[in-house]
Amino acid sequence: MLINLKKNASSSEVSELRELLDQAGLRHCISRSEENVVVGIENNLPETMMKELQSLSAIEKLTQTSTPFKMASLSFKSEPTVIQVGDVLIGGSHVALIAGPCAIESEEQLVECAEELKDSGVKILRASAFKPRTSPYSWQGMGLEGLKMHKRAQEKHGLLIESEVMDPRDVAVTAEHVDILRIGARNMQNFDLLKEVGKANKPVILKRGMSATIEEWLMSAEYIMAHGNHQVILCERGIRTFEKATRSTLDLSSVAILRTLTHLPVIVDPSHAAGRGDIIPALSKAAVAVGADGLLIEVHPQPKQSRCDARQALSPDEFENLSEEVKVIAKVTGRQV
Ligand code: PEP
Ligand code: MN
Repeated sequence: MLINLKKNASSSEVSELRELLDQAGLRHCISRSEENVVVGIENNLPETMMKELQSLSAIEKLTQTSTPFKMASLSFKSEPTVIQVGDVLIGGSHVALIAGPCAIESEEQLVECAEELKDSGVKILRASAFKPRTSPYSWQGMGLEGLKMHKRAQEKHGLLIESEVMDPRDVAVTAEHVDILRIGARNMQNFDLLKEVGKANKPVILKRGMSATIEEWLMSAEYIMAHGNHQVILCERGIRTFEKATRSTLDLSSVAILRTLTHLPVIVDPSHAAGRGDIIPALSKAAVAVGADGLLIEVHPQPKQSRCDARQALSPDEFENLSEEVKVIAKVTGRQV
């Protein structure tokens, strides 16, 4: 159940609604976006409560949703969401190319990579400062120092920047340094992190957990939206299967399924799905053909020297070829890179 409040609803009207819901013992989330205030409630409401709600002056509309995710659902918003970051649009008729190294290693590495990628249509540079590593003995990334490097490098290359946030305590500082936040696969159901990112005023790339169903993934998007941030970009990055030829199995059917369930943009990360560079161009073309709104790809100026995920890192030249091929597919599907 979703309650849309009128645009001019006052804070006392919002409080009145909150009190009514609290008294009835109904768990709810009040989500303020730039355009409006929406309240999500888990339960189906009794008739008497519906009547009481309808009598409140601040209420514009009540929407019953058949899905457990509500603000992320097509019944809440039937038009595709297009997210604007700087002058880049993600969603609709645009295919966004997001590329860059797995991890921030130095300011020079970031600038070199960005300068090479610019010519291939990349407007957003990915690079992580906080690295979720399987082994506690592996390098864990440069942390806050890396974020500062990302920002300093941006002054030289001018691209938008995105980076992963792993800890709720780091959300505010990460949001100060980057244009797009990323939640990695391992943290898709870190609910405290999702709530904190819900309070940030930056778009969020939400990766699919490697064992998460599409519904669980959308419920995680719902967490972010219910806490106030409606700028969520879903990212398919492969799921765990019995197959060993790739690191994960890229589930491209999820892109098509999501179109029937949500208005949120969906991008694809073929790099972490494949875990190997050779098939990334093929997976990228397939992702755009099935309707992905963008690609997230690992590129390193010297792939073999990459401190993480060297096997899947493309060189800037390889990426340039991929980008030319992807542009053709985007055009065939009526969109542009
Ligand atoms: C990443 O994109 O840097 C990453 C670690 O990917 P994932 O969370 O999908 O494993
Ligand atoms: Mn990586």
